[in-house]
Amino acid sequence: MQKNTSKPAKREIYYNRRLQLIGVICVERINLQNLIFNPQNEKLINMEAVRSTAEGVVAINGKEVKAFGTEAADADLQQLNINRREPTPHDVEIDILFCGVCHSDLHTVRNEWHGTVYPCVPGHEIVGKVVSVGNHVTKFKAGDLAAVGCMVDSCRECQYCKEGLEQFCEEGNIGTYNSPDKHMGTRTYGGYSESIVVDEAFVLKVPENLDLAATAPLLCAGITTYSPLKHWNVGPGKKVGIVGIGGLGHMGVKLAKAMGAEVIVFTTSPSKVEDAKRLGADEVVLSKDANQMKQYAGKLHFILDAVSAKHDINAYLNLLRVDGSLALVGAPEQPLPVAAFSLIPYRRSFAGSLIGGIAETQEMLDFCGKHNIVADIEIINIQQINEAYGRLLKGDVKYRFVIDMTSLKNQQSGQEKNN
Ligand code: NAP
Ligand code: ZN
Ligand code: ZN
Repeated sequence: MQKNTSKPAKREIYYNRRLQLIGVICVERINLQNLIFNPQNEKLINMEAVRSTAEGVVAINGKEVKAFGTEAADADLQQLNINRREPTPHDVEIDILFCGVCHSDLHTVRNEWHGTVYPCVPGHEIVGKVVSVGNHVTKFKAGDLAAVGCMVDSCRECQYCKEGLEQFCEEGNIGTYNSPDKHMGTRTYGGYSESIVVDEAFVLKVPENLDLAATAPLLCAGITTYSPLKHWNVGPGKKVGIVGIGGLGHMGVKLAKAMGAEVIVFTTSPSKVEDAKRLGADEVVLSKDANQMKQYAGKLHFILDAVSAKHDINAYLNLLRVDGSLALVGAPEQPLPVAAFSLIPYRRSFAGSLIGGIAETQEMLDFCGKHNIVADIEIINIQQINEAYGRLLKGDVKYRFVIDMTSLKNQQSGQEKNN
């Protein structure tokens, strides 16, 4: 249990957070006044679960659960313990059954986007069973299936939140991991853990007809591809390119096909050529073959680029028709230089897209339920996660690792092992 020792009168407070469990000392700047004492934020923190101390210090009740995470960018993931808050009246407590492994987990764990605070517990493709709910929760009850994706909260009051675009919240969405945790005063910790507690407004309903493990990747890979495909009106009569057939890309193929588009896959992996057709691709192009690429110059209405590493974006922009758009969802560590004449002659657009809002995530899950769409997965135990990251970097997964979280529940802690 961690306590914040600060004076509420000060507008901004610096405090040392003792991470007792792993012995790391971090200094973090947190605006506790806004997070805890500002009445406008009362929805974000529930006072029933908050204890006030003599100095006006605030701490929240919680329980320790097992998780897998890392303490440094160059360290392996290993078991550690984290605190989960006691469910407040609006919260849903979920026993995590499966968690997908997104390349963003790897980027974050290794601090490739330069904002990681350690310890870091990744995982934002979460499915599980509800174990308890707060007394104001209306959408869920104990025993229900439930899912959590990339966000666990947002301000809920800005224009974007009101429009269901919580991912673009003006105050910044609260990510499922590596975001400030307004309740606990730590960072948020993700789905590589036994359980999670989330406000019901950010918990999704899982279609009952889908395989649960294979549904987990829909929570990030599914929505991150569904949202731009919808936004750029992908459907019948449209030629759509999907670049990079990993976790996101393979979902993009399935979803674009189900939306009625003609789908052309671009892959660097010869081993994925035949498989991409099985996933629904009408045509498959080996992107390293310049002759194959040339045949598609100026032909595509829309391209979704889900590549995780640096690559030549101009090679794909040149495939767009007049007024065509390329939306980047892949988030390589390094910039992707764009040549002016990849865009100008055909009035092309180069865009980006970030996950999707909560209502749209539910819409995507329902769409997948209706069309029987799930991810192609390889189930692993949590103890294989470091090896899985190595394989992810080599593109050696068809097409998403999903962790069976019973492997974490069954793992003895280091302390228990020594006894
Ligand atoms: P992934 O499973 O590792 O797939 C990435 C694919 O990119 C690989 O399978 C490979 O496809 C291709 N690729 C990898 N290295 C390459 C290279 N050097 N040159 C060309 N192609 C290469 O990753 P993922 O989980 O799908 O995530 C993809 C990216 O999207 C990551 O950067 C992730 O952080 C990002 N992401 C963004 C959002 C968002 O909201 N925008 C959300 C989630 C994830 P082929 O073998 O077919 O070439
Ligand atoms: Zn993700
Ligand atoms: Zn907002």
